[in-house]
Amino acid sequence: MNTIEILGVPISNITMDGAVEKVSEFMKSDGLHPVYTPNPEIVMLAKGNKAFLEVIKKADLVVPDGIGVVIASKLQKGERLPERVAGYDLVQNTMKRAVKEGYKYYFFGSKPGIAEEAAQKMRETYPGIQIVGTRDGYFKKEDEPAIIEDINASGANILLVALGAPKQEMWIEENKHLLPNVRVAIGVGGSLDGMAG
Ligand code: UDP
Repeated sequence: MNTIEILGVPISNITMDGAVEKVSEFMKSDGLHPVYTPNPEIVMLAKGNKAFLEVIKKADLVVPDGIGVVIASKLQKGERLPERVAGYDLVQNTMKRAVKEGYKYYFFGSKPGIAEEAAQKMRETYPGIQIVGTRDGYFKKEDEPAIIEDINASGANILLVALGAPKQEMWIEENKHLLPNVRVAIGVGGSLDGMAG
């Protein structure tokens, strides 16, 4: 993937339509593909946190969630990012093709009740969509095997992780080898709160 570095953080040089297509390709290929959606605040965080930066570098797609990231690319030499690709909108755009393409979502994160509320709202918005599991984002280390087991048992192939940055990205990197059915895991920040309305 062609990337443009913003403060040393590689951001995919891609449009919204291109990102939706990429997700579709990832869904059809082997392995788990991490997708991250940094805004300027998260780019700053990665700049000062080497472990987090290394995790972002291992992603298959990193989209500019904030217009500030796109503007930063215009202020530096070289290629510019084509447009803002907000994580929330990227998720909505994948949901528009979810039924046709057989996406099965698991919503993991946010406060108790929010992921389930978000799932109900999305079932109303996208009739026929499969949201096969939900789980809140407040857990102890010892709860993690059960969470992973629940994700695997659900048959989900696309996982939305809403734990905030850098927790969600670190969680995906740490656990991706334990999630054999998941093809795409997206760090979505506050998106489940947004979907729950
Ligand atoms: N969150 C969570 N577990 C935690 C910390 C945060 O589930 O231990 C959730 C929180 O409830 C919220 C989301 O993670 O839904 C973070 O949203 P925010 O907008 O702060 O994320 P950002 O995109 O700025 O990282």
